[in-house]
Amino acid sequence: PYVIASACIDVNDKACVDECPVDCIYEGERKSYINPKECIDCGACEPVCPVEAITQDRRVADGDEPFVEDNRDFFTEV
Ligand code: SF4
Repeated sequence: PYVIASACIDVNDKACVDECPVDCIYEGERKSYINPKECIDCGACEPVCPVEAITQDRRVADGDEPFVEDNRDFFTEV
């Protein structure tokens, strides 16, 4: 799946939300999150992000690896 990483924090532009064909991008308090169980890997969200915060999970930027887990955890909180 795709993930939203650190660059989104306190930007939370949400341009990606309108692009996602399966509506799997959800707004959090300081950034948005992609539900990995719903993302179909279409890539439509990536080019519209003004801060390039979105990438496929296997090619996240150095240092942003924890955001893969962070995106997943956002949807598994009890
Ligand atoms: Fe939605 Fe496609 Fe982005 Fe996944 S890759 S979050 S399905 S727009």
